[in-house]
This record gives sequence, C-alpha cells and structure tokens, in this order.
Amino acid sequence: MNTRIRPETAEFIRRLPKTETHLHIEAAVPYRMVAGLRPGKFPETPDFWHEDFRFGSFQEFEDNLFALALDWYTSAERYHEAARAVIEELRAENVRYLETSFHIGIIEHLGVPGEEIVQAIREAAPPDFEVRVFMGIWRDHYQGALKGVIDDMPNWRGLAGVDIHGSEEKPLEEWNARAWAEARQAGKLTKAHAGEFTGPGSVREVLDFLRVERVEHGIGATADPQLVARLARDGVTLDVCPISNYKLRAVESMEAHPIRALVDAGVRCTLSRDDPTVFGNTLRQEYAALAGSLGFTHAELAAIARNGFEVALLPDEVKRRNIEEIDAVLAES
Ligand SMILES: [Zn+2]
Repeated sequence: MNTRIRPETAEFIRRLPKTETHLHIEAAVPYRMVAGLRPGKFPETPDFWHEDFRFGSFQEFEDNLFALALDWYTSAERYHEAARAVIEELRAENVRYLETSFHIGIIEHLGVPGEEIVQAIREAAPPDFEVRVFMGIWRDHYQGALKGVIDDMPNWRGLAGVDIHGSEEKPLEEWNARAWAEARQAGKLTKAHAGEFTGPGSVREVLDFLRVERVEHGIGATADPQLVARLARDGVTLDVCPISNYKLRAVESMEAHPIRALVDAGVRCTLSRDDPTVFGNTLRQEYAALAGSLGFTHAELAAIARNGFEVALLPDEVKRRNIEEIDAVLAES
C-alpha cells in the first residue's frame, strides 16, 4: 500500500470537509484508551497497526478485536466516553458528520436497554458535529430476548437506522426483510454489509430482498458489470473501507482495490475506516491510499467527500454549505 503523497495533496485532504459513514463503535474506541485500562496487557503499538500488516485470517482479526472491545465496553457510559474520543479525533481531521453502529448483542450482554446506548453515543457529539446511530444486527439474531428488541426498534426515536452485520455467508431470513421494511416505514435508513468477502450475488441479495439504501463495502459487485451498471443507474451508495479490505485480504493489493473501477463506472462511493482500533487507520490515510495507490486526483477525492454529504442524514442547507466548501477547497488546489 502506498500512502506517500505530495505535501500539497496531504494538505488538500486535510482541508476537505469530510464524513465517515461506516464505523463500528466497538472497533473504534481509541487503542490508547483500552490499553490504558490495564497497563502491560497490550503492547504500546501493536503489530497490526503497521501499514503493511495483513491479517492471516478473519478469525485472527476478530480475536484481537474482541480482546480489546470486551475490556472496554462494560457500560453505556463507556459508549459515551468512546464516542466522545472518536468524535474528537474526527474533528481534528476536519470530519463533520459520522454514522456509527453498535452491536445489538451488547444489549443482552450488558443488560442495558438499546435506547440508552443510542442516547449515550448521541450525547457525545458537540453542537458543531453531527452523529447518527445505527444498530448492527446479524442475519440470525432474531431469537430469544432480541426478538422483542428488533420488533421494538422502529419506535426508537434516537435511532437513525439499522445495518446487517456478521457473516455474509449465512442466508438472509424472512424477518430480515420484514424488520428492514418496518424500519423504513418508521423513517429510518437501512444498510447491510455485503460483498466484502462475497461476490455480486450477496450485493444483489441485499438490494432485492432487503431493499437497502446503502451497501457496506459492496466491492464484490465489481465481478458483475451488469450489477455495477445497476448500482450507478439506481444511485446506490457503497460505504467503502479500503484499508480494512487490504488488511483483511479482501483485496489482493491496494493497487487492485475495486474502488477505482467502481468510481470509474459512476458508482457513488464514500470512504470510511470500519474498525480503526484494530487497523490503526485514520480517515486521512484512507484518502491518501486512494491518491497514492490508485492515482485518485484532487477532483476525484473531492467527489468522494461530496458523496458523503450528499447521502448524509442532514438538512439540505447543511449539505449544501459543506459541498460548497469542498468545491472551494478544490478550486484553490
Ligand atoms: Zn463494517
């Protein structure tokens, strides 16, 4: 991966108003905060933060993530503290809007109502920053006490939407489509993870069966030109996380990342970090990887930033102001 870019491009990326729309809060708590809980338990700088590090397997990634996240996430207050720190870091990168998800399983694990977690994250945002909270649900989560949680979710006023997490290999179930339709009827945005390690079939499935408005990753769509044309025509947005894809070996190399082909085909893509506690990535590095490894021009980087505001759950006036600022930064570069 090449993130070595010209100083003018680094400065351009820094100045761009940005969004992040694909971030798992459990995997976003700053590493130093988790490591600080138990000095000596975790190394100061973990191997997996190195830019060229790649995980041997998804299991290896997950083991590291769980070890870190389970130590930190013991209460709704910890969600609040983590979200405050995440937002502070994002503001320092000139990010102004965040969509983040929390894992539904934590509701049972901690015995804390889901709405309290939503509220804890929302209250972490200062007045000049907007955060929207999503609940991440596995394809087979409709069981036991979580059935009631999923049935009630459309009534949660603070919840912005829902996202399918977990294994893309497991089949979607009837309840997935019903719950996603109910969420939309209640005015919520629906997403699903698909096409990260799977092919175009899984992307098509979440579009046709779940009718999602956003696909998280979705890069597997590139194997099917007809599907790519459909994504472009229908204005489907992919929330793409290149460094995550690189470190988890979902792509052969950063130079071969499908975001280049998707953008060239007119598919609307945004840029996010996915799981920065484990990857050690910043949003500026994500932009730098596109410039350094995939030859994205300033205009193309600006278009990615613009996409984030276009799909954001923000008033039109706020979107317009941010997009005008992006255009002005581009004009000066
Ligand atoms: Zn993700």
